[in-house]
This record gives sequence, C-alpha cells and structure tokens, in this order.
Amino acid sequence: MIQNIDVGLVVLDKEYRIEAWNGFMENHSGVVSTQIKGKNLFTAFPDIDEEWFRDKADTVFQLKNRAFTTWEQRPYLFKFKNYQPITGTAEYMFQNTTLLPLTSATGEVEHISMLIYDVTDVAVNREQLKSANRQLKTLSRSDRLTGLYNRGYWEELMRMEFLRARRSQTVSTLMILDIDHFKNVNDVYGHQVGDQVIRLLANSISSSQRVTDISGRYGGEEFVVILVDTDPKHAMISAERLRQKVESLSLSTAQGELTFTISIGLCGYRPEFESHEEWIVEADKALYESKHNGRNQTTIAG
Ligand code: GH3
Ligand code: MG
Ligand code: MG
Repeated sequence: MIQNIDVGLVVLDKEYRIEAWNGFMENHSGVVSTQIKGKNLFTAFPDIDEEWFRDKADTVFQLKNRAFTTWEQRPYLFKFKNYQPITGTAEYMFQNTTLLPLTSATGEVEHISMLIYDVTDVAVNREQLKSANRQLKTLSRSDRLTGLYNRGYWEELMRMEFLRARRSQTVSTLMILDIDHFKNVNDVYGHQVGDQVIRLLANSISSSQRVTDISGRYGGEEFVVILVDTDPKHAMISAERLRQKVESLSLSTAQGELTFTISIGLCGYRPEFESHEEWIVEADKALYESKHNGRNQTTIAG
C-alpha cells in the first residue's frame, strides 16, 4: 500500500541515512530504492538546505514532536520536475512535508518518517490569484485613459499627504489644472482627438514631474498634482514650465494642427485647513481666477 500511495514516504535514521524510499519517490526522482538505501540524505540531495532541515528534524528526534515544512516557506524539499498537465506553468513540484517520529519498542526515536505531498495545484492557484489581485489593484487605482491615478485613489493619497503636512513643518503645494476651452476641441476635432489631447497632457504632466510628486486625473480634462515638500513659490516655477510646455505642443489632426492651453491654480498647505477637501477648494479657487483673468496662466491662492 505504502509503495503505491500518491504521497512520498521516506524513512531516515539518526545519521540522516535513507532507510525507506517508496514508489512515489522512485517515480519522481528516477532513483530506485535499492540504489538509495543507506545513503546520506544531504549527500544524495545536495539541494536540500542541511542546516535548515536538521533544525526541523532535530526537534522530531529530541522532542518526539511532529514537524512540518510548507511550500510557502520553501517551494520544495526534493527538487522534482512538475509533470502535471493542468499546472504546467510550474517548473518544479511544490511540496508540503510532514516529519513524524517513529518510536522504537524502548520508547526512543531512532527514526523519523517524512511524508511528501505534491501541492503544485494549490500553489499554482494561489500564485495566479495573487497576480490577478495585484493586477486588479493597479487597475482600480489608475485612470483608464491616461494611466495616472484616478480620482478616488489620488484623493486617498491626498488625504494622507494632508495628515503628513499637518504633523511635519514642511510645506507641500497642491496644483490643479484644467484645459482651456476644451469643449471647442471636442466640437471642432471630435471626441477622439479630445481624448488624444487629454493623453498628451497627462504625458506632459508625468514627464515633467519629480518622483515624489503625486499626480492624478481629477475629472474629464482636469488634473491634480501634489508637489511634495515644495512651497508655492517653487511650485510656481514648475507650474509655469508645464504651462509653457503645453502651450508649445501641437497635434496633427485631419482638420490641421491643433494647439491648446491650460490654466493652473496653486495652493500651499496651511495649518488652518481642517481637511484635505478644504485644501482642494482653495486650489480650485485659484484655478478659477486663472480662468477668469484670461486663461493660460497660473495663480497662487491668496
Ligand atoms: P474652460 O476653459 O472654462 O475650462 O472651458 P471648457 O470648455 O474646457 O469647459 P469645461 O472644463 O467645463 O469642459 C469640460 C469638457 O470636457 C466637457 C466634456 O465634454 C469634456 N470632457 C470631459 N471628459 C472628457 C473625456 O474623457 N474625453 C473628451 N474627449 N472630452 C471630455
Ligand atoms: Mg476646461
Ligand atoms: Mg473642466
């Protein structure tokens, strides 16, 4: 029975010599029982981390306890190729093992037995689930059209930056920007070109920002950037650089060259803000002022 079960069975003595080796082990290792019997485990399988394994096995010999190794700690104990067709993505067989004390008639533990379970299907499913979750996470964080953070996720980061600004003495500045007369772009060139303009602007924002800046798409053609550790005066320089860069861009369309401009509002953190929303409202007022004063300009909240 032990010979044919779908679990590996190995018996070791105190010197880690192999005393039993069942059919499962023969099939997967390609080494038959008569060849391996009496050999030292670590000599026969140099891939096994001796120190780590002795640590586990010693508690079984001395305390007469069971011990376990799982694929999450180490993918496998014995490096066997994986041949299962459904889990073909895994190169090696993932294994869980159980170490059991074998008590002799005198009550001593002279041997331990190891049960090796093939858990490749479990491990592969888990890994696939993890990677799907990771993908979902980034998808739900980012805006489809531009790849920037979407409003929900950006606001979450903004809230955290607000709390950080409140604790520390540094000043960060919030920038809000909006494309000027964008309805005209859609009307004259069509919605698809409009989308292209939005993407072009998003690229300009990401390529001009510092690594610490946190940018997001706040609405249709409205973007936000938190300039971390930057006061409004310095933020003004970045904002103007971005505004001028956008002004100089041109897009070739069926209806000819298209140029566009943006208006910007800036607001530095103030200790009297009671929430991050208040901070956004103030930056938005500055943006409105830029619009009101003729667009294609930057205003610092007063
Ligand atoms: P203003 O200078 O005052 O900002 O004028 P505006 O025409 O840009 O006005 P507003 O910002 O209110 O207009 C936003 C327009 O953007 C309205 C909407 O049709 C368009 N829009 C919003 N989201 C998208 C999008 O994802 N793609 C495209 N193509 N257009 C969008
Ligand atoms: Mg607009
Ligand atoms: Mg708008």
